[in-house]
Amino acid sequence: MGRNFEIPDFFRSPVIGKIKAGRKASDPRKKDISPSILDLGRVRFKIARHFGFCFGVENAIEITYGALKENPGRRVFLLSEMIHNPHVNADLKARGVEFLQETDGTVRIPIADLRPTDIVIVPAFGTTFEMLKQLEEIGLEKRIYNATCPFVEKVWNRSHELGQKGYTIIIHGKHYHEETRATFSQARLQAPALIIRDMKEAQTLAHYIRGEGSPEEFARDFLGKYSSDLDPEKHLQRIGVVNQTTMLASDTRAISKYLRDVMESFYGRENLRYHFADTRDTLCYATSENQDAVKALMESRGDFALVIGGYNSSNTSHLHKLMQSRLPAYYIKDALEILSLTEIRCLEAGQVVIREGWFPDRHPLEILITAGASSPDALVDQVIRRIADLCGLSLDLPLAEPENRSSIREQASQ
Ligand code: SF4
Repeated sequence: MGRNFEIPDFFRSPVIGKIKAGRKASDPRKKDISPSILDLGRVRFKIARHFGFCFGVENAIEITYGALKENPGRRVFLLSEMIHNPHVNADLKARGVEFLQETDGTVRIPIADLRPTDIVIVPAFGTTFEMLKQLEEIGLEKRIYNATCPFVEKVWNRSHELGQKGYTIIIHGKHYHEETRATFSQARLQAPALIIRDMKEAQTLAHYIRGEGSPEEFARDFLGKYSSDLDPEKHLQRIGVVNQTTMLASDTRAISKYLRDVMESFYGRENLRYHFADTRDTLCYATSENQDAVKALMESRGDFALVIGGYNSSNTSHLHKLMQSRLPAYYIKDALEILSLTEIRCLEAGQVVIREGWFPDRHPLEILITAGASSPDALVDQVIRRIADLCGLSLDLPLAEPENRSSIREQASQ
């Protein structure tokens, strides 16, 4: 995770870049997850210790922009959005990259339309075994740039291990998400596999684990979410759980514990190991760090929170969910959603809505800020600048920081 990737400059940011560099210099082992503070007087921004581009996203960006550079004149296709950020995807489109599928797998350009000279990029989420096979069949396997995040591949490896040990693989994830579709495809090569979204579906699954429902009811309850070789009467006796890398850690823990308890009470403690593979979750480091940093941010208190990220970004939605549990939290894709100090456009329960009266008239005002793993730091900068502009504040003020963290100021003033 220590690699420096080649990222286009326009994704970087002068303000956030300096804050992050300062924190990295003063705390290279990431032991301190308290927020950074940018004090503009009337407004104080409290900025999460961890947010923004993760290893997998930077890796995918480097590979994708590298593929464009190495293949001038060729047609370049991404299997779907490279990451879930509209600005990054729009920039790639402007450079001529086309997307073969929508996020949910709906075909935009059929594989049959590709030519042998085309370039195909697998996004950070990975892709299905079936898609790779199709690309091979038309002779494109040597023209694939694979930007699959290594942390997603780790989930596939865990699935393979579970499958080889005879466990049915339960995937805690969103069945329509590219990553979970790819993991499901990889998992079912090894063993029967099933996707559950949340505790409610875990409870439904428990019903069948106890042998309480019919196969017809199972088929109805998990339509489109299990492999065709899964017979609920045979294949729910031994299970192991893996997760989409970006789920909410508390949900993941609760579901895994719940299923473990179900197995224990049904088969007995002495037989638990045989029936339930007791493995750690497969959330990635960025998901864990960002969620932990948000918890520390919430502990530090504020008047409201801004969570910045693409509206189809799973990891951002979970940061928002965490924030929402404690204080008013607005999920915005960029600074343009801040219409005025009276109105803000934001995502709420899957709908883009306009909220009024979001900016309290309080002095000083403390605003908590974080962003998803697919959000460029430049977008966070723009949000801070937008608020500073609307409040008539200057960002030329020196960056402030929590007491005793002078290295941030040193970096900022360079
Ligand atoms: S959020 Fe995690 S799994 Fe997804 S690209 Fe980033 S590091 Fe990889």
